[in-house]
Amino acid sequence: MIRSVLAGATAQLSAFSDSPRLDAELLLGHLLGYGRAQLLTHDDESLSESVLSLYKSLLDRRCLGEPVAYLLGYRDFWKHRFVVGPGVLVPRPETELLVEHALRWLDGLQEPRILDLGTGSGAIGLSIALALPQAQVTLTDRSLASVEIARRNHDALGATAEILEGSWFEPVGGRNFDLIVSNPPYVAPDDPHLQGLELQHEPRTALVAAEDGFADLKQIIGGATAHLLKGGRILLEHGHTQASGVRDLLGLHGFGSIQSFCDLSGIERATGGVLGD
Ligand code: GLN
Repeated sequence: MIRSVLAGATAQLSAFSDSPRLDAELLLGHLLGYGRAQLLTHDDESLSESVLSLYKSLLDRRCLGEPVAYLLGYRDFWKHRFVVGPGVLVPRPETELLVEHALRWLDGLQEPRILDLGTGSGAIGLSIALALPQAQVTLTDRSLASVEIARRNHDALGATAEILEGSWFEPVGGRNFDLIVSNPPYVAPDDPHLQGLELQHEPRTALVAAEDGFADLKQIIGGATAHLLKGGRILLEHGHTQASGVRDLLGLHGFGSIQSFCDLSGIERATGGVLGD
């Protein structure tokens, strides 16, 4: 029955996952079409052989480090469900910090122009576009797989945004924006975290950056000055040891009112500033 199957699955996953019970419930719920609460209220139901065998194969893949989001085919982020799959970074809860502060900054602006660089699944830019229907949101990514998934999410969620293929600012030419937002790759190539099973399944190009993880952050900050309107803002996610480095870079490039923001674990995870302030 569901109760004992979940207990067995949790035990199997506990060697491989930080959240074995949650993973076990999400994967079984997915196969049965049950939410987590429903699973618990139906926990004395028995399971067919075919469900058990599908469940076993999902658990085996999870034990090899495949992210739950790839196994389910989606990840909930901010207020929406985003399709994800191999080829795009799985949106992380801490990245919601960018959406939260972007929306705070944009509050009250008429038809603001927003650029989300390296959008991946589209999670950041589409969340902003859906929250601010009057905004003009542009998403770029150099990976075709990302652009395709972002377009799927755009259509499925009924967002209105422009999605362009190309590296960083390249697809937007000389256009200017009120806000540039990005969760670029920022993990240093020698970070031991990269050896973890889970990260093996996500695209390296979305995770790793040269120069101790700063190469893409530098490129974005350097290019942003030419793509922001007067008083425009930038907001970037970065690694847990990079906040002061990002603040310095912003200062060097003429940004003011520089501020870092902590994620739910109290780690400085995003930094922003205003051009020419
Ligand atoms: N936060 C991700 C991780 O540590 C990295 C995401 C990124 O490089 N943008 O797994």
